[in-house]
Amino acid sequence: MGTVERGAVGEMPVFGEHPALDLVNSTFVRGGLRGHPVDVLVEPSDLVVWVERQAEWLDPADAPAGELGAAELAAFLELRRALRAVLTAVVAGEPAGAADVAVVNAAVRAAPGWVELSPGAVGTGVRRSVAGERGAVLLGRVAQSAVELLTGDRRDLVRACPAPGCILFFLQRHARRSWCSASCGTRVRVARHSRRHAAEHAAGHAAGHTEE
Ligand SMILES: [Zn+2]
Repeated sequence: MGTVERGAVGEMPVFGEHPALDLVNSTFVRGGLRGHPVDVLVEPSDLVVWVERQAEWLDPADAPAGELGAAELAAFLELRRALRAVLTAVVAGEPAGAADVAVVNAAVRAAPGWVELSPGAVGTGVRRSVAGERGAVLLGRVAQSAVELLTGDRRDLVRACPAPGCILFFLQRHARRSWCSASCGTRVRVARHSRRHAAEHAAGHAAGHTEE
């Protein structure tokens, strides 16, 4: 890839799909086949924003306090790289690489979580406990979500967007969803239209018609 532009989390074409897919989709290509790569996780502050936007799934308020700095960002980017490789293999119907799988599993193991009884209110007093640093706990939750996605019913819904130049993944919850986003669908339709127009134009010339 050439020069990567830093983008904002809010610019991600697909967001809210699934925590694991939202991590993989945090780098994307703007403009299709001849577009340029954009990454929304360049600085540690970008990761803080991404985590906040994932609050519904990651429950960051419940994670240990701590900093999300350069080391934590590096760990998230390594998980992102591994997950992209695993997802690429899965949608191709191929086995995932052992080294990539090991990265995902190491992230899960680094953040053990469990539920406990609370003495005051047994039955309703369940609390979730976690061990580890804030970054490792949040990373572990993303990795855990990936494991659940790829071992559960929704595994067959994972799609790589087929639009030329697009590198995003999505869950095909509806049979009619063909693209990751409306912008990819529009881009493909416009390209088809201009190809058809060019073909008609060429056919007109071949038949000896005067154009325009
Ligand atoms: Zn797409």
